[in-house]
Amino acid sequence: MRYLIISDIHSNMPALEAVLRDAPRYDEVICLGDLVGYGPDPNACVDRLHDLAKVCLAGNHDWGAIGQADLTIFNRDARQALIWTQGELTASRLAFLKSLSPQQQLEGGILLSHGSPRDPVWEYLVDISSAMINFAEVGFEIALVGHSHLPMALAWWEEERRVQPLRVELGTRLQLGARRFILNPGSVGQPRDGDPRASYALLDTEEMTWRFLRVEYPVEITQERMRAKVLPQRLIDRLEIGR
Ligand code: ZN
Repeated sequence: MRYLIISDIHSNMPALEAVLRDAPRYDEVICLGDLVGYGPDPNACVDRLHDLAKVCLAGNHDWGAIGQADLTIFNRDARQALIWTQGELTASRLAFLKSLSPQQQLEGGILLSHGSPRDPVWEYLVDISSAMINFAEVGFEIALVGHSHLPMALAWWEEERRVQPLRVELGTRLQLGARRFILNPGSVGQPRDGDPRASYALLDTEEMTWRFLRVEYPVEITQERMRAKVLPQRLIDRLEIGR
């Protein structure tokens, strides 16, 4: 099975459309959460993912939008965007977001989580020590996570009980199967690794390979829509620098 893996779309429809156009052939779509928040197109993004994704997780911003997370946890800009999002989402879109879980099992020991395997909503899996704990505490062969908006591949060396971050060039195939991995496809709608292009990945469970991919999208269209909705300026500015 060839899975298109996307995460952290954040109501950015031009970025989502660019990924769907750019992606090489795939069988199913998996979304690791944060469909909404920050961006200008919450209803359109929810509709597209509702129609498209075989599996769709809930992220912390989705929880904020449906009232399941206290908005005081979020920073001021994120909170302002979530309050606006709450006012935009229609009842059917809210019901869909409420039906989502932040964690789900896939075939073959593949665990899908928005944040981390042990804390699927809130933990940012961005360093070796948090990865160590997750490899040690949770049983999975491959864990797919989102939430940090940073593309990442971490391998577990069982013999030495060590985590190794891997540098994987865009478009090249990382061979899976021989050891355990934590993989993050990066963010479609608000990348934070200094590259403003939408980030996504392809997981092939027959070849057992993973590929990171990037695609440019019209950032200025998303920014224009955000201005029209009077969303926070800092959220508008960060899209063009990818931070
Ligand atoms: Zn996010």
